Amino acid sequence: MKDHDEEALLAEVATLLDASEHTGHPLHCALQRLYRQHCDQRVQVERLISISDRYQLLAMEAQQVTQRRYERTLRRQRKLSRISDGYQALMRERNQALQQASTHDPLTELPNRRLIGERLEELVSERRRFSLALLDIDHFKLINDHHGHDIGDRLLVAITQELSATLRHYDLCGRWGGEEFLLLLADTDLQEAHAIVERLRQRLAAVTIHDADQSLSVTVSAGLSQHLHGEPHQTTLKRADEALLKAKRDGRDRSLSATR
Ligand code: GH3
Ligand code: MG
Ligand code: MG
Repeated sequence: MKDHDEEALLAEVATLLDASEHTGHPLHCALQRLYRQHCDQRVQVERLISISDRYQLLAMEAQQVTQRRYERTLRRQRKLSRISDGYQALMRERNQALQQASTHDPLTELPNRRLIGERLEELVSERRRFSLALLDIDHFKLINDHHGHDIGDRLLVAITQELSATLRHYDLCGRWGGEEFLLLLADTDLQEAHAIVERLRQRLAAVTIHDADQSLSVTVSAGLSQHLHGEPHQTTLKRADEALLKAKRDGRDRSLSATR
């Protein structure tokens, strides 16, 4: 029943109950009780509806508050994630830079003594065959003395670039000291190593840089040794160093292989 129909019916019943001619009618008393009961129930139903509406409203508001809180937390979380990602990327970069700095020489970017030492240990423990060549630039001090340290640096870098470009990808070349380089030639015997180093020396002698109108180049001496099964790499290195000293004493610009 629609609200206005119900209103009209109730008004009609109230009018009938109020009319004096119906007083005393056998149905008057029962209808009056029914009318009051209906009105009471109506009041109760309306109160329940109003309570339920308020609850719904409160529930909706609570849901909206929770939703807003959730979205705020989500935004904060995303921001924190972005910051954390940024820090992680920075840490990775720093770690890589530290790793590079601790294993490579800053001027030539070649592996440093430490990294080559580690690689040598690995080759020995893997029982791999390898030869070493210790290369030293001849009379390099004269370049510094006559042209200055910066020109010396430029020549060192040019020599390094030629070294890296000429070697096989599985050879390792490191900066062993000031103007000394160590080549680690894996799976290579002394004869092959000698041929490689002689070819390399020719190419290094052809490297030139310019200082004003002067062309500068250098020669390189080398000492070679082959690793003998069971010996520590320091012993192999010592033989290469002795061969290098001998190459220097014999007049430089040459390579000598160590006798066992
Ligand atoms: P030798 O033929 O006997 O090897 O003579 P040398 O002059 O090359 O050898 P010495 O050991 O007397 O001098 C090495 C020179 O290398 C001296 C040093 O200043 C120079 N040197 C070492 N490291 C660097 C560097 O990073 N940059 C420059 N410009 N010079 C360097
Ligand atoms: Mg030297
Ligand atoms: Mg030298």
